[in-house]
Amino acid sequence: MGLDTETALVLFSGGQDSTVCLAWALQRFASVETVGFGYGQRHAVELSVRPAIRERLRALDPTWAARLGDDHVLDLSVLGRMSETALTRDVGIAMAADGLPTTFVPGRNLIFLTFAAALAYRRGAKHLVAGMCETDYSGYPDCRDDTLKAMQVALTLGMDRRFVVHTPLMWIDKAATFALAQELGGAALLDAVIELSHSCYLGDRSRRHDWGHGCGECPACRLRSAGYEKWEQEYRRP
Ligand code: ZN
Repeated sequence: MGLDTETALVLFSGGQDSTVCLAWALQRFASVETVGFGYGQRHAVELSVRPAIRERLRALDPTWAARLGDDHVLDLSVLGRMSETALTRDVGIAMAADGLPTTFVPGRNLIFLTFAAALAYRRGAKHLVAGMCETDYSGYPDCRDDTLKAMQVALTLGMDRRFVVHTPLMWIDKAATFALAQELGGAALLDAVIELSHSCYLGDRSRRHDWGHGCGECPACRLRSAGYEKWEQEYRRP
């Protein structure tokens, strides 16, 4: 992978997918910054693991350490307040049949990308890197490839600045995401992903499985667990 001398801003939640995206960006761009969004209870856990992941990636590779720049955390708590009030007035907080919590904010990723682009504009970053994936999350319309391509056009026109939205995980499943981590940073990066990143919907870090921390039962844990099992069978190399 050739080095791109421009700056990238990674939407970095502290989850497995965005951790792999951060490593992907560090491999590719000379300068990489990260942004996280605070918007509610569950994600407080995710946000809390972010600094440790950044530190671990720095320690893994001196080149990555030199490329990894500032971290930004934006307060979007209005999204959490919207979920608790307007969006759930007629519907109890539960898992819907599609596996999405009913607190889900429609179009959330559109909001994140817009804030990320506004920050990227100020930071002189042309590239936005995000972990959306159509393979595992077809239930989220704001994770679809066409949605993100449309956002790239809208942000580029609307801010009169060229943005490129990169989604390295768009067409791969969770097993291939584990494989990508191994390809980018070997066993050490895989270990960082498993040990440090957080994806469980319930914010559970009390249980450690082969595939990482989590309740083991929520849709995010089941996806991660199944992905790890498939990775072990189909991709794992010594
Ligand atoms: Zn879970």
